[in-house]
Amino acid sequence: MSETFRTQFTQDYVAQYGPRILPGKIALEEHYESPDWEATGDPQNETARNQEAYFEAVKSRLHSAEQRIADMDRNGVEVFVMSLTQPGVQEVLDTGEAVKIAHEMNLWVYENYVQRYPTRFNAFAAVAMQDPEAACRELEFCVKELGFCGALINGYTMKGSKDHVEYLDEPQNLPFWKKLVELDVPLYLHPRDPAPSQQRAYAGYPGLLGSAWGFGAETALHAVRLLCSGLFDELPGAKLILGHLGEGLPFSLPRLQHRLNNQKPCGAHKRPLPEYFERNVWITTSGHFNTPSFLHTLAGCDSSKVMFSSDTPYESLDEAALWFDNVPLSQSDRLRIGRQNAIDLLKLDL
Ligand code: MN
Repeated sequence: MSETFRTQFTQDYVAQYGPRILPGKIALEEHYESPDWEATGDPQNETARNQEAYFEAVKSRLHSAEQRIADMDRNGVEVFVMSLTQPGVQEVLDTGEAVKIAHEMNLWVYENYVQRYPTRFNAFAAVAMQDPEAACRELEFCVKELGFCGALINGYTMKGSKDHVEYLDEPQNLPFWKKLVELDVPLYLHPRDPAPSQQRAYAGYPGLLGSAWGFGAETALHAVRLLCSGLFDELPGAKLILGHLGEGLPFSLPRLQHRLNNQKPCGAHKRPLPEYFERNVWITTSGHFNTPSFLHTLAGCDSSKVMFSSDTPYESLDEAALWFDNVPLSQSDRLRIGRQNAIDLLKLDL
């Protein structure tokens, strides 16, 4: 199907019937920040790269459940699964403080979103990987006591110093993966800026460091580390979610494996990487509302592992929903991707 045809298909439908809205959608990369704690990291970075009016609108939505509900109602979204915005506790250098803040943020989002509007919000737990055992306890508390549906981690974790970073495939984090599997909940691996030691490549182009490019490059590599590590051989039931159409991996993974086939072993994995991707990885549409990219992704993925998300408040829910509700898909696929796959994965009681 050519892009011209796809565009025409959507335009014809909209012209004939008006824009359609799929009711009951669920979105699971939707961010909050408590007014009690600045989670967005170094404000210099955000103010340097973002236009002022844009970032002011983002900030007001980060704090307001009521504003989010109005957005959801207007766009046929039933449930937002909330997460602490990046870099969150992954940038808290003091371990004790990171553990404490994670717990406080989880209680805050529970009280201000989930408990107040239980039919509209759930949440992913913030966890402090600076102390993996504490992260296990926090995850168990959030899942069992607060009813949260998994964890969201903003990439690598800084510990002690901004130059010391730890990735989720490293052995100290294996107990946390075991806890995820024991509780049968997924981990959403969310982006953050590339590590300080990697930022030379972005010098002179501050706008590329964040969500425009650096987020995806950093997170795709982090996900590939996980695929290579052997983690998914040891824990075949582990569930990983990637946003932004899988951070490009549905496009790039076939070539990656093609080259690895000629190389010496890279990590401890036993199977070709695409096998883990098919079995252990779910992806969302967050922040990537482009029809050819989406259709390519669907062609390379099990459609039961693709889920609608928007990435609010950094993205407009109006734009995300209008695109998704009218992208050329069968209505049964739209319903699965827009709603049912998330219910199945997160075991939502809807
Ligand atoms: Mn996001």
